Amino acid sequence: MKDVIVKALAYDKSVRVYAVSTTNALNEIGSRLNYFPSALDAMGRVLSMGAMMGSMLKLEETLTLKVEGDGPIGKIIVDSDAHGHIRGYCDNPHCHFEYNDYRLNVKQTIGTTGFISIIKDLKLKEPFIGSTPIISGEIAEDFAYYFQVSDQVPSAVGLGVLVDTDNKAVASGGFIIQLLPNTPDEVITKLEQKLKMIPTVSEMLTSGYEPADIIYNIADDVEIIDTVDVEFRCNCSKDRFARGIMSLGKDELLDMIKDDKEIETTCHFCGNKYNFSIEELKELYELISKGDKSC
Ligand code: ZN
Repeated sequence: MKDVIVKALAYDKSVRVYAVSTTNALNEIGSRLNYFPSALDAMGRVLSMGAMMGSMLKLEETLTLKVEGDGPIGKIIVDSDAHGHIRGYCDNPHCHFEYNDYRLNVKQTIGTTGFISIIKDLKLKEPFIGSTPIISGEIAEDFAYYFQVSDQVPSAVGLGVLVDTDNKAVASGGFIIQLLPNTPDEVITKLEQKLKMIPTVSEMLTSGYEPADIIYNIADDVEIIDTVDVEFRCNCSKDRFARGIMSLGKDELLDMIKDDKEIETTCHFCGNKYNFSIEELKELYELISKGDKSC
């Protein structure tokens, strides 16, 4: 089953609902960088948030979510856009915690103190940056709090990941429900009752629910607006890494050349490696020197 985001309106267009599945994209990330189970769970949750929030953007806009807790996974970063392209990175994919009943302990993996930040490149002069404190460390509540405080949009967020014994995700996905300014009080009450009764996101996904089914399960009077395929995609290239090396400056580059060793760079998001020979480093040095003269 491919990963998709479904956008919908419900209750006579007074409520917006998003639902997503990110199982394949998460397994792509997990297998490329050998994620341990609770790190994979944490990444899956942020990935699902990134995909859904990306689908709130306009055509050329892009989004970065940053979760910086005090847990051993370190920083988690997810990039997304309006076309369902996502990629994710964390400082330490090799961490793993469980509760006594063997459920994965995401809270301990991420930590309970820190910040989540949303950086939107809306193709204006400056990016939009919003940030709120981590209040739970389990991601869903943290983002619901962000929507409430930063965007003033009352929201409910559900996220879930189920990881098998082979460290692969069986299911990863989530939903966001957002009240619009015209949501009647009785609809809010109905939604609150429904949210108390529905199974968890992991339960729904593992019993075969697709994102649209999740939406039909949590809301009434549903009108599906759009369905977008979700895909892991990293836009790294040797050129980008070359620019990165050049940005270190002439002195640093000269030291690398003097060391007389090939440089190996690795993309944190996809694990692809790009090597630079001494000859190539010398070419980059020439390029900086030319740049200096033309200024
Ligand atoms: Zn990459």
